[in-house]
Amino acid sequence: MPYIVALTGGIGSGKSTIAQAFAASGVDIIDADLIAREVVEPGTPALQAIKGRYGASIVTEQGMLDRKQLRDIIFQKPEEKSWLNALLHPLINARTRQLIAQATSPYVLWVVPLLVENQLQHQADRVLVVDVDEATQLARTQQRDHLSVEQAKRILAAQATRQQRLACADDIIDNSGEPDDALPQVAELHQRYLRLAATKQD
Ligand code: ATP
Repeated sequence: MPYIVALTGGIGSGKSTIAQAFAASGVDIIDADLIAREVVEPGTPALQAIKGRYGASIVTEQGMLDRKQLRDIIFQKPEEKSWLNALLHPLINARTRQLIAQATSPYVLWVVPLLVENQLQHQADRVLVVDVDEATQLARTQQRDHLSVEQAKRILAAQATRQQRLACADDIIDNSGEPDDALPQVAELHQRYLRLAATKQD
């Protein structure tokens, strides 16, 4: 099992941007969001189970899960979130373990936006937080997703606070400067993780 570095950060903090910089050094990236989509792809038992519970209209004409509709259901009936989590979390966990076991780089970067919210930090050997202040998060999210200030603020308010996230960090990347400013930090952490991975006892 390779050494596992979990990378997290609030919305718009720059997780994907930083993950790409690690990938450029040859680090295998395990993306929690991608896995969460993969387990409900057309033809999966999980999508079948969701259809069984909410009816065929939960699937689009293209056969994809209608995520917006599912979000609305959970919003109206919070108990449905528990049902969904019980269905999906074991599948997501199993797939994550499988991908980590298959990785060939000395350590893997496990990108988990909701690491702190879902208390997954103990499943990693090390936690790396991409940090910017909230004003920067709001500005970058709004610009990228064309959201109103209110929409961006609402998403931010539903996530862990900057302080809660930083309290879980072993390492922090300050991504408040120009994109290139983060690169030396990535290079230094990469060397640190290679050293830590070399001493990990299986
Ligand atoms: P999400 O949680 O929404 O998936 P994220 O944490 O993965 O977001 P990115 O998508 O990497 O964040 O970055 C958010 C936006 O900010 C993108 O448009 C990205 O190009 C931009 N960005 C990232 N880093 C910087 C930077 N240092 N300076 C300016 N813009 C940046």
